[in-house]
Amino acid sequence: MIEITIYGRGGQGGVTLAKLIAAAWFAKGKYTQAFGVYAAERSGAPIQAYVRIDDAEITNHNQIREPDHVIVLDPTLIGPGILTGLKRDGAIILNTPRATAELAAMFAGHTVWTIDATSIAVENGLGTRAVPIVNTTMMGAVARSSGLTFDEVTATFDDLGFGSANLVAAKEAFETSSSAVVPGGLRESRPEPGTTPAVSLLDPNTGAPPQIRTGSWATRRPERRTLTPPCNSSCPAGNDVQRFVQAASRAAYDEALAVLLETSPLPGICGRVCPAPCMAACNRNEFDEGVNVRELERFVSDHGEWPNPVLQAVHERIAVVGSGPAGLSAAYQLAKLGYHVSLFEAGDQLGGVLRNGIPEYRLPREVLDRELGFILMHGVTAYTDARIDRAALRELTRHYSAVFVATGLQESRSLDLGESREAVRQGIDFLEGVHRGEENVSGMRVVVVGGGNTAIDAARSARRLGASDVHILYRRSRAEMPAIAEEIEAAIEEGIVLDELALPVHTSSEGKTVALTCVRMVLGDPDPSGRRQPVRATGPAAEFVVRCDRVILALGQSADISILPEGNEIHENGKVVGVTGAPVFIGGDLGKSEGTVAAAIGSGRRAALHIHCTLTGHDLIDRDEAQVATADLIRTRTFPHAARTRGGTISHELREHTFAEVHTGLTDAAVEAQRCFSCGVCNSCDRCLTYCPEGVLTTDGDTYTFNFDFCKGCGVCAAECPRGVILMSQI
Ligand code: FAD
Repeated sequence: MIEITIYGRGGQGGVTLAKLIAAAWFAKGKYTQAFGVYAAERSGAPIQAYVRIDDAEITNHNQIREPDHVIVLDPTLIGPGILTGLKRDGAIILNTPRATAELAAMFAGHTVWTIDATSIAVENGLGTRAVPIVNTTMMGAVARSSGLTFDEVTATFDDLGFGSANLVAAKEAFETSSSAVVPGGLRESRPEPGTTPAVSLLDPNTGAPPQIRTGSWATRRPERRTLTPPCNSSCPAGNDVQRFVQAASRAAYDEALAVLLETSPLPGICGRVCPAPCMAACNRNEFDEGVNVRELERFVSDHGEWPNPVLQAVHERIAVVGSGPAGLSAAYQLAKLGYHVSLFEAGDQLGGVLRNGIPEYRLPREVLDRELGFILMHGVTAYTDARIDRAALRELTRHYSAVFVATGLQESRSLDLGESREAVRQGIDFLEGVHRGEENVSGMRVVVVGGGNTAIDAARSARRLGASDVHILYRRSRAEMPAIAEEIEAAIEEGIVLDELALPVHTSSEGKTVALTCVRMVLGDPDPSGRRQPVRATGPAAEFVVRCDRVILALGQSADISILPEGNEIHENGKVVGVTGAPVFIGGDLGKSEGTVAAAIGSGRRAALHIHCTLTGHDLIDRDEAQVATADLIRTRTFPHAARTRGGTISHELREHTFAEVHTGLTDAAVEAQRCFSCGVCNSCDRCLTYCPEGVLTTDGDTYTFNFDFCKGCGVCAAECPRGVILMSQI
């Protein structure tokens, strides 16, 4: 058997040359085989092609390790590497303008044939000046060296459909190729015993591919970019979710906590009560399950070390009214910017809904106190029992450089249910009473009306206080309930009955019992919010009576704007977003009423930055609208599937009688954090470095640099980047 290895570059036609040789010998009655092996399928990359010729059928399909002869299509590939595995007296056929004798010295002991195939191909218009196709020209030299006649070459070209320019070039090569040492045809030869088989053109010392300057023919080059991960873009608090999760993936929990504290002083709270839009937006949902960001935030805030605040030099005084998450967030950010903040709270304790609304079984008060303490340590002075009305607000504007008002939603929506008024409580008052230990519903049948978080919290609290029977009546269906879905699920698990499509209209007394008359509803057309409108059902079963001892109304709340200076409000989409004539800013639920803790935190932070910008002209507001790293940019095949890690929960017995925290959190965060794809943000996985065929990428650990003198623009780095950070652009 005769085995030939062809060394070339993508685009030069090496595999076709292998076919031509095989076809020529096949026509002479031999068994032949031709195939190529690519380093990467692209123009300019080193490739190898192989030919086998034998009298018997060829059953070996392996790559050729010990060729009888080698053919080199590109002058830049000529070097000692092509001798690897070449049999002792094997012929070498080179495309080079250099003299045969000169090269014979390098390849002592071998027959060396040379032909300037590049010039011949260019003269004959084969390929382009930048990438000439030299295969047919080289066929002329191969034929001459192996004893094929030119008629046999012509017949082969005809068979394979090659045109006249190819034949002219081949003929010129056939006639002008020269050889040194021992001219001769293709012969079988035996390998020297003990020689090592050939592998590639890689540098035998470094293992690196040969450094070949790119020239001017590359058409594309890689560019690194940073995209916005969907978790970051959907976080209402403005957290850098990806960065904190990546730190957690290295078990660097102090660092992860520091990242969270840049934007939010309440990570332990959000890690417990946030509806986590980041988890809904996570690209991993398309693959298996989104990363459990909420539990990671909780873990980091419970296990990371809280830093000691660095007190800033105080330059001006700012007043904040309301100590819910919006007021707390603004106070924290303003203090970090070097303002002295006075925080005015109408209640006797700080925290707003976090203290008076959300029950302890979801948010233990020690977590709230830890985070409040951290905020106050930044030099915030808090005043409780300090209700601010319109006159007091005017006063504040005289003594402070600016005022931020975040008084939340204070007006509860009601429903006139007639007679049994004393049995009807507002949900928010009930929850505050629970917090103060003043509510007693033991043994009572409780009906909660509403579908939001207040309704679910009131129902689950009543259950824990020993209510014998708890029903939630909601006028739409479960799918339309604004409460956090997991909370609805938990309420049902705890034995609370959800009666959908039911609207209470009237109460009457039956002794100590309240008879609550309800109307059955059906869903009609969607309202402007997209939720389907409930409309009254008709027919005999449309009205029914529920008997109970206590009715809790949780129908939502609205803002009390009587605190704001009259007549000079600024409106946006029908909502008040500020006032003129005084440096007063508003935020949290009072402003846009997005209704989540995270949104209130984000609103407080943005207000702080606006205040700082107004007072100093220094604009720190992030207005970048970076492109979001969508799921289609993530190469999911590079990640293993892994189920989401979930935290534990306490037993149902404990849930029935105590306000102990239901969720116990993760026991380890790094494993869950490692599920993060780090969408659109380089996390130094170094796949680009590993896969770059030219070795033109270097890094100092942080910065990655492409050497464009040698980069061929193959795009392997971009194709291998799992997170869409590398983009190929046209030069
Ligand atoms: P608030 O938290 O309402 O704080 C306003 C503060 O201002 C209060 O402390 C109030 O006493 C004070 N104040 C009012 N008037 C004055 C005045 N004139 N002078 C001085 N101080 C005044 N969101 C979630 O993300 N996850 C949840 O699980 C969740 N559960 C909830 C459960 C309940 C029962 C409720 C009611 C809401 C829940 N929310 C939840 C929504 C979230 O709590 C609110 O969106 C958020 O608290 C709004 O923050 P805020 O700072 O604007 O207002």
